[in-house]
Order: sequence, then structure tokens, then C-alpha cells
Amino acid sequence: PRRRQLSVNDYVEGVLARNPMVLGRAITLAESNSPAHRALAQEVLTKLLPHTGKSRRVGITGIPGAGKSTFIESLGFSLTSNGHRVAVLAIDPSSTIHGGSILADKVRMEKLGREPNAFIRPSPSGGSLGGVARKTREAILLCEAAGYDVVIVETVGVGQNEVTVRSMVDMFLVLMIAGAGDEMQGIKKGVIELADLLVINKADGDNVPRCIAAQAEMKRVLHYLQRPTEGWEPPAVLASALTGRGVDDVWRTTGEFFKTVTLTGGLQSRRRAQAVEWMHSLILESLKERFYARDDVKARLSAMENAVADGRLPPLAAALDLIGNG
Ligand code: GDP
Repeated sequence: PRRRQLSVNDYVEGVLARNPMVLGRAITLAESNSPAHRALAQEVLTKLLPHTGKSRRVGITGIPGAGKSTFIESLGFSLTSNGHRVAVLAIDPSSTIHGGSILADKVRMEKLGREPNAFIRPSPSGGSLGGVARKTREAILLCEAAGYDVVIVETVGVGQNEVTVRSMVDMFLVLMIAGAGDEMQGIKKGVIELADLLVINKADGDNVPRCIAAQAEMKRVLHYLQRPTEGWEPPAVLASALTGRGVDDVWRTTGEFFKTVTLTGGLQSRRRAQAVEWMHSLILESLKERFYARDDVKARLSAMENAVADGRLPPLAAALDLIGNG
């Protein structure tokens, strides 16, 4: 059966009333590529904007198998039982890039999803990383308007995603596992440099000594790296998502981080800069979209591509020619 269309006010009131069904539909609206839906979503977001910004926005990354979903579930339960309301959003553009999703191929955080004070939303599918990022940023705002005071953005550590998530959260956690040269991988990709907190997960059973060694190594590495957040020295801590060890410590450290950046003003300035940066990326995205949608561009593009490929025309000359005809 077709669902009843919601008006702008239905969305706004439903989200503010903390109705998870309406929140879910508002996110779907914001994820839609139809111009009509987009316009409606912008009206909803504009009205909700005064009710946003009150959450802790926390990004979590880690290679596949590092224990992200187990860890987030454990942290999520600890938070909800302490009166927090937690939203978990995922970013996984791999469904677009590789034709198969890393995060969505299993039922994730099923138990946490049944908690009344938890809201779990899988990654929007389709589109570029930029498109997925825009949708997730809007979902963060919608979740905040719906009263979630902790918004976790989860992403798979595959290189590019981390930078994107870093640009939309206040605090960035990197989940690592000891051994197999994985920590070196993270260092080489520059992921460690983005981290406000390193969590060495799976510190349980026989694995504890290796984790302690990895922790010492990471502390040494962190010492030489530039800090992503002024006034905050990123710690490396041990945790086990399986036994729950260290999970509450991670949350305590998060609390210290937010206290620090609130005092230094770093939180506010980061959010202001992120919003402006977001606007600029939307401008670029939208200009690009309009350019490729132009009739004259569509008509001449493949001929120009051939001319450039054959070496008959320099790429810059071709580009300027296409742009200039608008
Ligand atoms: P993700 O791909 O990063 O989301 O990783 P998962 O949360 O799916 O975990 C991958 C595997 O590691 C699963 O089999 C988990 O049960 C296991 N795992 C996760 N956290 C821990 C932990 O703290 N200790 C141990 N021993 N295993 C864990």
C-alpha cells in the first residue's frame, strides 16, 4: 500500500516528537535524488536547524574485522543504559565503487537496533562518496533534531572514507587490532593522523600481551604525529568489545575530549569551518551536475572526448570550449 505523503510540517513535528518512523522517512527524503524531494528535504532541514547541534558527533573507523559493529553495539548499550539516546549512521560507498557493500552484507547491530533509545541507519547506497557524505551530514542533523545526543558515524577503513567522516564529526576514533602489520597499514594511509583516540580492540584472552605491545608502539607513533585537534593529545587505549573491557573508559575519554574542545572553543570553530566547507563542496557538486546536464554539453561531449583521446585537441582547450558555450 502506498504510504501517505507527509507535509513539511508532518516531517518537522514528527522528528521533533522523536518519532523514529518519521525520522527514518525524513532521512529517506534527504537521500532521494529527485529534485522535488530534495527541495522538500531542504525545507524540513531549514526548519529543524535550530534544534540541531546538541549531540556529540563521533566518527569510528577501522579495517573490516576490527570489531566496529561489536564495539559500537557494546558502547551503544552502555550509553542507552546510562540515559543517552544513540544514533548510528554508516558510510559505505563501496556499494557504488566495488558493486558490493562491506558494511551491509550482514545484519549489523541487530540487538542495539531493538533498543528504544537507539537508532541505526545503514549507509545510503548509490552515488559518489560526495553524495553519500551529503546524505549522511543531513542525517546527522535530522538525528540531532530528533533528540539523539550521541551520533556515531561508522565507516570502513579503506583510505578515502576516513577523511570524509573526519570532516563531519567532532571526534574521530580509530579502532585497531594488534598484529598482522595492520597498524602499519593505518600509519601509511595517514589514518592515524586523523585520530583523536586510538582504540586497540580485542584486548582479551591470549591476545592481551600483543595488544599491550601494540599500544606502546602506537603511543610512540602518536608522539611524532601532528594532532588533529588543538589542545588534545590523542591517547591509545585497550578495549575488548567482546568482554566490555575498556568500553566505558573510551566513553570517559570522549567526555574529556568534549570538555577540552568546549573550553578551548575548538568544537565551535571546527563545526563552523565544517559547515562552510560543506557548502563549498555542495557548490562544486551542483555546478558539476548542471554542467553535465546541459544540452550543448551532452551533444558535444563524446566528440570532444574523442578529440582529446586522439590527441587532436589539448584537454584544457576542450574543457574551456565546453564550459564557455554555456
Ligand atoms: P567489523 O567488520 O569491524 O564491524 O567487525 P565485527 O564487529 O563484525 O567483528 C569481527 C569479528 O571480530 C567478529 O567475529 C567479532 O565477534 C570479533 N570481535 C569483535 N570484537 C572483539 C573483541 O573485542 N574480542 C574478540 N576476541 N573478538 C572480537
